[in-house]
Amino acid sequence: TLFKNQDGDLSVLDDRTVAVIGYGNQGRAQALNMRDSGVENIIIGNRGDSSKEQAKKDGFEAYSMDQAANKADILFFLVPDEVQPQVYKEKIEPYLKEGDVLNFASGYNITYNLITPPENIDVIMIAPRMIGTMVRELYEVGDGAPSFLAINQNYSGKAKDIGLALGKAIGSTRSGIIEIDSFALETKSDLLMEQGLIPIILNAMIAKYELEIAEGMPPAGALLELYLSRELGYIFEKMAEQGIIGQMPLHSQTSQYGQISRIDELQEGEAEEVSYNDIKKFMGRQLRNIGNGKFAREWSNEQQMGYPVFHRLFEKYNNSEMIKEEQKTIKELGLSNDLT
Ligand code: NDP
Repeated sequence: TLFKNQDGDLSVLDDRTVAVIGYGNQGRAQALNMRDSGVENIIIGNRGDSSKEQAKKDGFEAYSMDQAANKADILFFLVPDEVQPQVYKEKIEPYLKEGDVLNFASGYNITYNLITPPENIDVIMIAPRMIGTMVRELYEVGDGAPSFLAINQNYSGKAKDIGLALGKAIGSTRSGIIEIDSFALETKSDLLMEQGLIPIILNAMIAKYELEIAEGMPPAGALLELYLSRELGYIFEKMAEQGIIGQMPLHSQTSQYGQISRIDELQEGEAEEVSYNDIKKFMGRQLRNIGNGKFAREWSNEQQMGYPVFHRLFEKYNNSEMIKEEQKTIKELGLSNDLT
């Protein structure tokens, strides 16, 4: 189901105190948007540091996380997923009371039972499909970040009305709120993007770079063509506006023919090296490991061990020739200044 502007009624939030726990990327953006939408009783819970000061500067009453949790009826839990289980145990759970609403922006911890809320509260998710700064910037120009809505526990019987009101308040009905059946669907979609799609795209980019370098192309040239010119980013933007096939006329006919004929070669299994089915099999394995919790266990274990693989791999790729050349090129061409 898609919910738009006419949906959602903010009056279900009347007389309720909304606490935004975690005043970071999402927390700040969502709190400011809600206030501008007319939600009256918003307080902030953050550990005592610059973010808490920022919240006060922005004109909010700011408390410690446990104090805010204690005062609120509706809690936005917007600290990073990795720290949520511990923060929840120590600062949130002891203060939850019957009829409270716990709102997540990500399905991860509920999906993998790393957080198990009491049965006598509503557990909902309004998950923006956008980074925090954009959640705010879009709102300020009269637009909004689209969100997923999911209901995990509906103790009050009104969880969906509350979720829609919160989604409206952060600006999401301006573009659209899509209701999905479970937190797990959001988790899978998110993780499959990260673990299935992006690794394939980035490997393909590395392969293109290496092949061109071997042909004598200077690294800066290969990298500009690949992504530093922003042409690729621009094409993806046009796909969102006009569609994958719809944006094709922006390219030359040679380009269009080359693209569509080779897309079809992979689709039809006519390429001898790799097929669409191989790509789908790789993705399918990632999805299985996401679904059966194998990835979540691997990642929990990695955190407990002090991130050895995480650090080793960052080191490995930061020290690769391509990334060294990339950093050099970004500096030499002054690309890190925002060109837009
Ligand atoms: P941030 O990294 O911006 O951190 C949010 C807040 O958490 C900050 O206020 C930070 O406090 C606090 N925090 C960090 N570590 C700790 C800790 N150990 N103990 C107590 N507080 C801590 O998070 P995001 O806003 O990116 O993410 C919040 C939620 O939103 C997550 O569930 C995420 O999955 C979801 N989300 C994020 C998106 C994104 O693009 N970033 C998109 C959609 C959803 P301080 O400022 O004091 O360090």
